[in-house]
Amino acid sequence: MLNVNRAWLITHENDTLQPDTQAKFEALLARRLRGEPMAYILGGREFYGLALQVTPDTLIPRPDTEMLVGVALGRILSDHQVDVLDLGTGSGAIALAIAKHRPHAHVVAVDASSAALEVAKKNATTLQVSNVQFVLSSWFSALETQRFDVIVSNPPYIEQNDAHLSQGDLRFEPVKALASGTDGLDDIRRIIADSLVHLVPQGWLMLEHGYNQARRVADLMADAGLVEIETVQDLGGNDRVTIGKNPLIISAHWS
Ligand code: GLN
Repeated sequence: MLNVNRAWLITHENDTLQPDTQAKFEALLARRLRGEPMAYILGGREFYGLALQVTPDTLIPRPDTEMLVGVALGRILSDHQVDVLDLGTGSGAIALAIAKHRPHAHVVAVDASSAALEVAKKNATTLQVSNVQFVLSSWFSALETQRFDVIVSNPPYIEQNDAHLSQGDLRFEPVKALASGTDGLDDIRRIIADSLVHLVPQGWLMLEHGYNQARRVADLMADAGLVEIETVQDLGGNDRVTIGKNPLIISAHWS
């Protein structure tokens, strides 16, 4: 609004605002007083060192999700030309963070919301990330038989009757990006069930989930045939990311 930095504000603390600037400030303050999240009022949020645009069409990226990016980067060598898929990309946070740090990777980022994809595409342009391709798709539906070395997702995983959905920032975020059936696992079940046919042999599926869902997510991955299943905690010490691997080994061709 004033387009000045914090140092300017401190050195001009006794200045009087112009009436139109004052009115704009009051309008923003009123939005905040109604509970609107700061990220939507400011139009942006920092994630993994990237300044991302966010709108009410996208979930606000959480610090917890940076753990998922860290786990993915830990398994993608910096000079490897891997194919990565981000399911439900929203503002593009995870896809863009991986793409920015692994310029040799090719990332496909899908979302079922075209409005969210517009935001994600704008973020890619602003951040000058060109190794992400955006696709309108409900989970794997538009991907046909394409296979990936790494599939990541921060899907909706909150129980649909969870009281948190009607509290704080969550009231303003897209409910489709937050809640997923009675136990919160509807979308995670779908993703895991379809993951094997979209993973290359030895490819990894990496999912963010709720603090109390690690065991059930691990069981679902095992039932689907994934191996080397592991759960990683976030910085708050909560189980947050569970990963599993496609056990198939590329077989030699004999003719
Ligand atoms: N971790 C988020 C929260 O509890 C939820 C994000 C999600 O559903 N993927 O606010």
